[in-house]
Parts: sequence; C-alpha cells; structure tokens
Amino acid sequence: MSRKVEKSRELQKRAEQMMPGGVSSPVRAFGAVGGDPPFIVLGQGSHLLDADDNEYIDYLGSWGPLILGHAFGEVVEAITAAARSGTSFGASTPSEADLAEIVLLAFPHLQKVRFVNSGTEATMSAVRLARAYTKRKYIVKFEGCYHGHVDALLVKAGSGLATLGIPGSAGVPEEFTQFTVTLPFNDTDAVERVFAKFKHQIACVIVEPVVGNMGCVPGLGDYLAALRLITQREKAVLIFDEVMTGFRVAFGGAQELYGIRPDLTTLGKILGGGLPVGAYGGPSELMDLVAPLGPMYQAGTLSGNPLAMAAGLATLSHLRDHRAEIYPRLEKLSAQLVDGVAAAARDAGVTLCSNRVGSMFTWFFTPGPVNDWNSASKSDTDAFGRFFRAMLDHGVYLPPSQYESAFLSTAHTKEDIKKTIAAAKQAFQSAHA
Ligand SMILES: *Cc1c(COP(=O)(O)O)cnc(C)c1O
Repeated sequence: MSRKVEKSRELQKRAEQMMPGGVSSPVRAFGAVGGDPPFIVLGQGSHLLDADDNEYIDYLGSWGPLILGHAFGEVVEAITAAARSGTSFGASTPSEADLAEIVLLAFPHLQKVRFVNSGTEATMSAVRLARAYTKRKYIVKFEGCYHGHVDALLVKAGSGLATLGIPGSAGVPEEFTQFTVTLPFNDTDAVERVFAKFKHQIACVIVEPVVGNMGCVPGLGDYLAALRLITQREKAVLIFDEVMTGFRVAFGGAQELYGIRPDLTTLGKILGGGLPVGAYGGPSELMDLVAPLGPMYQAGTLSGNPLAMAAGLATLSHLRDHRAEIYPRLEKLSAQLVDGVAAAARDAGVTLCSNRVGSMFTWFFTPGPVNDWNSASKSDTDAFGRFFRAMLDHGVYLPPSQYESAFLSTAHTKEDIKKTIAAAKQAFQSAHA
C-alpha cells in the first residue's frame, strides 16, 4: 500500500522556494524520517485529510494542543463568535480573566497568571522572573528537555534539536549560555552536586515533569519530589514546564498527577485550544514582580488575544466539565493502543520500548528502559523512520521523529485504535520483508 503524494510534493516544492525548508517549524519537513510531508487541508475529530485526498488517523494532535480533536464544535463556535466582535484591541477584554479563572482552578498553586503567545515566551519569561526574584544568575535544565527556542535554554535540548542532532544552535554566543547548567534527567545526585558547586548562585531549576521532547520519559520514583526538596532547601525557584503536560496528563497537569507544587508553572499548547497561547504563573509573591506591578519587564502586542482566549476557554471549560470521564477514558484507550502496538512488535520480533503517561506516549526502537537522554538516544532511528513511513502509508499519522511524544484525543475511537494496531502489525511485517 502506498499513498498518493503528487499534490503535497508540488506544494512542498513551492513552499521551499520562499521559506527555509518550506516550513514554519523545522520538524515538519520530515528531515528525521524521510518521505513526503503531507500538506493538510482538513482536520475533523481524530482524522486528517491531505491535499492528495489521503486520510489519516492523527496521533500528532498539532504537537499536543488538540486534546479534543480537530475542529471541535464548541471551540469553533467560540472562535467564530469572538471574531465577529473584533479580532484584537490591544486593550483588556473580559475573556482574559475568564481564562485566568479556569487556569487557577486547574492549578491551585497559581495565584496569578500572565498570558503570552507561545510556550517559548512562557519559559523565557519564567526564567527571567526566577532570576529577578532570587537575584541569582545560574539556571539548571536537563538533557533532552525542550523549553522552546530561548537562547539560554537551547543547550542539549530535545524536540527538533534532538531530531537534527544539533548540540545547541548557531547564533547563540557562548556568553548567553554560560549561566546554563545542563544535567542528566532522573539523576538526583547530579542536582545535589551542582547546588554544592554553585552555592547561592542558582536562580532556578526548569524541568518538564513528564518529558515529552525526547519522546515520552517520566520521572522515576521520587525524582520530582527530590527536585522539590532540594530547590526549597537551596531557595531556588522550581519551574515546572507544563506546556505539554498541562491539561494533558491530568486537568491540573503533572503537578496534580504527582502531587508536587512547583514555584512557577509554564503552560501552552492545550491552553490555547489550537490557537497560540502560552502562560506563566505562580504565587503573588513572585508574580507581583511582573510589570506593571514590579520591575520584571515582559509584554506582548497580541497577548491575551480575544480569539485565542475564546478557543482556550472553550477547550478548558469542556475539560473541566467532563474531566471525570475524559481522563480515565484517555488513559484506558491509550493503554490499549500502546500495549496493542507493543504486542504486535513482540509477535514480529521487533525490539520496542513503550513509554506512556496518560495520553502521551512514545514507542522507542530500543530494548530500553528509556529514562534519560542517554538511553533515549540509543534508539534505532532508521527503524523508527521505516515504521513511521509504513504507518503513514497505512493511514496513521505519527510525530515525524523518534524523539517526540504522540497523543490521543477525546475524538479517537476504539475503531481508530483497532485500525492503528492492524497498521502496526503490517508495518512490522514489512520491516522484516
Ligand atoms: C512545545 C513546548 C514548548 C515550546 O512551546 P512553543 O509554543 O512551541 O513555543 C516549551 N516547553 C515544552 C515542554 C513544550 O512541549
């Protein structure tokens, strides 16, 4: 079986004339997996349609935001209604406090929240705030964690950087990363050592509480609790980057799931319901340092945009009202899918390590276990590429890199799961043919 690609190929060629790689974000070019990236013309529920009329079951979900699936009725209606009243004012609208209220409900440790336009802006601002609060310079991050394309955070980062094998990025002077310390994930001793070495100099520790950007990698045992204890003892700010995990692994994110309260939280993706929204928040003691109340400056022309607020509010309201059914169902269906594909791999003699937390998951082509960047990077990325292309040919759209998390939405059905497992069986067989 193979899909038609003529139209997508033409569109890609045209885009490449005018845009680097023909894309607006690097991983979309399929550099890590090969093959023709489909140009999407329609998304409906759990399905995508491309320019050549190929249909796919979608496990990318726009890289995380679309927990309710594509073109969810309440979200589309909210955006449409907001657009009729004007798309942007550069002045306050009631919708911002509406969205803030529901964010504070989901994340009770937040007393105040500031809306921005992307996850990148959220983490950049949270780090600035942590430095403003502590009056310290150093920041600690972890290998394989991606926090957006902030200069100081593009050190041993995951996501597209992992995919492309770029150690950092050109155009970032070393002086800009000299205060960034990168440690292996899931290694508590390394954190203790760095705090001993840089006594009273570390402003913050920023972490993805479930890493999604080296593929899905959860914290082991009491790792997150240890980060909380150490940062508290050392009076450093603990930032949970929940841009991916917020409203995903639980309504209140990883901090609800694991019962750990960070000092600052960054949000994005699901928060905007498919439109560009990010946020950072925490206790008033920290947030009141943000301008106009305090000396930490951060601003945005389109921040709190009424269309984006409406999409976020419609998404979060639906999640809030139906969370008792939604999250257990996502958990159950995701388990069926991930275990079903793992069983198909076993039957076909394909080596696979499955990691999953709720509805975020990755099939690593390595015996595993995968607990950090070192073990994730042992994956056979060629085998992943073959699997990815075979799945695409069989109508299943996965993230186009071994080092990204896949997602299930509330729109996925048992039938979708069955079809996906059947596709995986065929993909694993053809990998041996
Ligand atoms: C996606 C992501 C970001 C960056 O968000 P953008 O909206 O792409 O700028 C930051 N942190 C984490 C954990 C993410 O998954």
